This record gives sequence, structure tokens and C-alpha cells, in this order.
Amino acid sequence: MKKVSILGATGSIGQNTVDLIRRDPKAFDVVALTGGRNVLQLAQDARDLRADIAVIQDDDLLPQLKDLLIGSGVEAAAGADAICDAATRPADWTMSCIVGAAGLAPGWKALEQGATLALANKESLVTAGPILLDHAKHHCATVLPVDSEHSAVFQALVGEDIAAVERIIITASGGAFRDWPLDKLESATLAEASSHPNWDMGQRITIDSASMFNKAMELIETKEFFGVRPDQIEAIIHPESLIHAMVGFNDGAIMAHVGPHDMRHAIGFALNWPKRTELPVERLDLAQIGALTFKAPEAARYPALQIARTVMEEGGLMGAAFTSAKDRALDAFIAGDIGFTQMAPVVDKVLNTMTSRDGLKNARMTLDTVQQTDTLARRRAAEAIADLR
Ligand code: NAD
Ligand code: MG
Repeated sequence: MKKVSILGATGSIGQNTVDLIRRDPKAFDVVALTGGRNVLQLAQDARDLRADIAVIQDDDLLPQLKDLLIGSGVEAAAGADAICDAATRPADWTMSCIVGAAGLAPGWKALEQGATLALANKESLVTAGPILLDHAKHHCATVLPVDSEHSAVFQALVGEDIAAVERIIITASGGAFRDWPLDKLESATLAEASSHPNWDMGQRITIDSASMFNKAMELIETKEFFGVRPDQIEAIIHPESLIHAMVGFNDGAIMAHVGPHDMRHAIGFALNWPKRTELPVERLDLAQIGALTFKAPEAARYPALQIARTVMEEGGLMGAAFTSAKDRALDAFIAGDIGFTQMAPVVDKVLNTMTSRDGLKNARMTLDTVQQTDTLARRRAAEAIADLR
């Protein structure tokens, strides 16, 4: 039996992972499940999957979690430190799918087991990619990508030499506003930005798809994970979202990964790796689909892509500053404090002040400097947001 833990079990990726594990209970022994605030879901899954421990991030919810788990034999704990402790409980495979910067520390701890970390939390790679992958190497741990584009690239590279790769093309749906008139974007509401044309995901990542901040993160994630140069990485709009990524080789061939819109494919690939196992996802009827289309993303519609280029070129702590500024700007959009098109200027401004004024760009990357950058970038973003109001 494979011992598995899910950090962020109550979220969209977490629930898809739970679904796969639930389908094959004899194959998996569940160690730890963690959640943010959804105590009912966490307790129910911990009971159903007979987890050893369930951890809720919000301390105030611990009494409720304990009540819900009475008689189940599942331990209950709460708080960020308890999530990190749970991540160190021996497991062969750990899913890192907490959203945002909060996912870095638990994933980091899980790596110290020297086992496998399935990484959905893209923020970990964007903010701290070089030290995270060094840490994995140091502990002989394996990191497998779960983001659908990166899983697709990883699969297209099986048996290939990375030195023969000329370019990596990740696809983007274009999000909720891909066909909107540009001048209407300014007035886009939260509800409009929160509905994705192709995928069913958490709210934050759905809004990040509409602004393409998600794709911007994924460009940086590609650079960090596969170690290619920024100029080798492209994003292309592919409204059908059936090709998840393509790898172009030095002989002109392009290997494309085609599959349904279902995160259980990428999660299942990582769960069963290095083998492939039957997965409960739709089989595509290509004749029915008929055509796959592509178009270049417009710079004016998606300013986040240009910001990602700057972050990739500059490297270092710029990824951490970018992620935190983007997160803060997204909070402000969700709260109704700024408009949809004001998120990118806020992030841009933060990156400019971080380089010109704060000089963090050249600091050595450690967990501490990543943390300091996070705090500073959030503060600078709050200032930039206040200036706009
Ligand atoms: P989500 O918001 O649905 O779930 C996030 C999970 O993290 C939940 O369990 C939540 O309770 C927990 N959480 C939130 N804040 C926390 C905190 N401070 N401390 C501890 N736990 C906390 O998000 P999601 O859509 O499942 O995405 C998870 C991660 O996977 C993100 O990094 C996202 O970018 C990435 N990702 C998601 C998808 C997708 O299809 N949803 C695809 C690719 C990558
Ligand atoms: Mg993705």
C-alpha cells in the first residue's frame, strides 16, 4: 500500500485527489489530510479514508474538528505548525495543493522525507524554485508536476534529452475575458472574472486565468522546473484547452499532450508515476471535436505575461515579490477595492519599487529572504492599492 498525504485536501485539487484515492482504497493508506477552514469536508474525508491525522489551519475550528472525529480514531490538530508537522509524517507520496504562499513551508517539510512530492502549489516554484529543488535533491526526494501544463511537458519529455529541447509552449484558455472588447475589461465584475469557460477550479485561480496571472506564474514555473531559458518558453491561447502543452525539439518535431479538461489526469499521472494506470477521465472523441485552434495572446489584454518575462529575466527573489504582489492585488480585487485592470499595474509598481528602492533583487535566496520579500511585497502592494483609491 502506498502511504499518501494531502496538504490542502479540501480544495479543488485536494478533492480531485481524494476522489482518485477513494476509488482504490486497497492501494492507499492515508496518513495526513489538511484543510484551511472547511472543517466538515476535512472531517468527512478523514473518516472515509481512515486517515491517521486531520489538521485544520484555523485554530478556532479545532474543537469542532475534534467533535466531528469522535470515535473515528483519527487524530485532530490545528494551526500552520501542525500542518508542517503532519507533512513530516512518513508518506511515500504527498500532494502539495494548499493555495498560495502558505503552501511553501509544508511542501518543504514533506521533501525532507526523501519521498515523492506531487506539486500543484505553483507558488512554491515561482517564489522559491531554486532552493526548493535543491532541497529536494539534498534529501533525494522526487518532485512531480501536477499543474496540467507542466504535467503535459513532463510527459512529452519522457525518454527525451532536455538538451534537444528548443522550446516549450504552454497553452492558455484565455480565461473569462478572452473575447471581451478591451475597453469593457475595466468594468469586469468579480462574478464575471470568477467564471471560467473551460475548467472548474478554485476562485483565485479562476480569476488568475481571466487576467492570465495564472499563465504568468506558469511561465515562471516552467523555467524553474525544467531549467530552460526564458526565451525558450511561450504561452499560446488555445480556447479548446485540450492540448495542455507542447515541447518543440531541435529536429523541428513538436510533441503535444492532448487530454480532457480534468485535473484527475495530471493528479493521477503523478499518483501512479512512473507507471500509467487507468483513470476515470473522459476519452476524447477527436472527430466530434473537429478542430483545435490557437492564437497569440494580446499584450494589451494580458499585461501579466510581460511582467512574467521581466521576472524570469531577473530571477532571484523577483518571483517571490511577484507572487505576493499578485496575491495582494487579487485580494483587493476580490474585496472590491480595485478594478480588474488595476491588478497588473499594482504588481508592476511593486516590482519596480522592490528593485529600485528596496534592493532585494540581488539578495541570496533562503526561506527567510523569501519570507521577507513576501512581507515587503505585500506592504508595497497595499501602498500601491491605497494610492489608487
Ligand atoms: P482551492 O482554493 O480550491 O484549495 C486550496 C486548499 O488550501 C484548500 O484545502 C484550503 O483549505 C487550503 N488553504 C487555503 N489557505 C490555507 C492556509 N493559509 N493554510 C493552510 N491551508 C490553506 O485551490 P485549488 O484550486 O485546489 O489550487 C491549489 C493549488 O493548486 C494552487 O496553488 C493552484 O495554483 C494549483 N493548481 C490548481 C489547479 C486547479 O485546477 N484547481 C490547477 C493547477 C494548479
Ligand atoms: Mg495550469
